[in-house]
Amino acid sequence: MNKLSLFPLLFSALLFTACTPDPDPEKPADVSTTEKTAPAKTIAADFPYTFEQVAAHTWVMHGPLALPNPENRGFMNNPGVVETTAGLVIIDPGSTVHVGRHVLAQIKTISDKPVAAVFNTHIHGDHWLGNQAIREAFPGVKIYGHPNMRAAVADGEGENWVSLMESMTEGASKGTKVVAPDSNADNTDSIRVGDTTFRIHYYGVAHTNGDIMIEVVENSVIFLGDNVLAKRLPRMSDGTFQGSIDSINTVLKKDIKTWVPGHGPTGDKAMVRDFLNYVSLVYAAAKQAFEDDLDSSDVISITRRTTAAYKDWSGYEEQLGPHGAQAFAEVEAAEF
Ligand SMILES: [Zn+2]
Repeated sequence: MNKLSLFPLLFSALLFTACTPDPDPEKPADVSTTEKTAPAKTIAADFPYTFEQVAAHTWVMHGPLALPNPENRGFMNNPGVVETTAGLVIIDPGSTVHVGRHVLAQIKTISDKPVAAVFNTHIHGDHWLGNQAIREAFPGVKIYGHPNMRAAVADGEGENWVSLMESMTEGASKGTKVVAPDSNADNTDSIRVGDTTFRIHYYGVAHTNGDIMIEVVENSVIFLGDNVLAKRLPRMSDGTFQGSIDSINTVLKKDIKTWVPGHGPTGDKAMVRDFLNYVSLVYAAAKQAFEDDLDSSDVISITRRTTAAYKDWSGYEEQLGPHGAQAFAEVEAAEF
């Protein structure tokens, strides 16, 4: 399929869960001390998003609900920061160079340490186009991504995301350039940064074909990327239902205390199981429709009943139809 034709679909994948950030209008972005090696230019001080501590040495800037637009400047994901003895580690620095600079400015409220490494969870640009700001400020920083994600960037996906972000924000993202991950992170890798271990979990195609989940071992926290969302339903068209279910079930066996979704509020295993339950219900409805010799449109009427508890989640009405059709196609493909 033509990649560009996937674009509106990809974008719908970004119908993201918001959380309730804790804006502090009294605390403007610290522009003057943002960057040590490049001129600082951050989003205006009315951009309210700040880091909240979610675990020992671990903070998350929970992004907003809305789709990228001129007001939110494209920001919508959950950038994370982990403090180690060797410096700070950023997970998913956001959707544009400007958001990345805002993340760097806000990090100054946590620590003056330099950024030692960056992880990108997957190919969707709302998570990683902020790499540019981190590389500007810390030219030697290592940026990790799954090999499949790196291949997709090499194949032009990053440029597609830059264009898409620019049109959605009506130019607010202008100046953003593709800065790809330069280092591989794959399943079973344990990457040490100072006193801290970043253990990579990758169990095949889930939300996309290159999602890494990053466990910060000593802090008992895991960054799930878009494999798990809270209070928001994602587009599934770059991944699979069965793969998502398998990946989430596998990672749920780990003894970890704090779970950070790609969008939406940080939580515990109950938050993860809540999302798993939704994708499982859709897949079960598709199986039932297939076995009863119904068709994909019947999946929607079944899931409208079985997933009623999720009707207030953002994206529910938009996604119910596409989710049912995709799950039905997956079941059909699995049967033949
Ligand atoms: Zn995504």
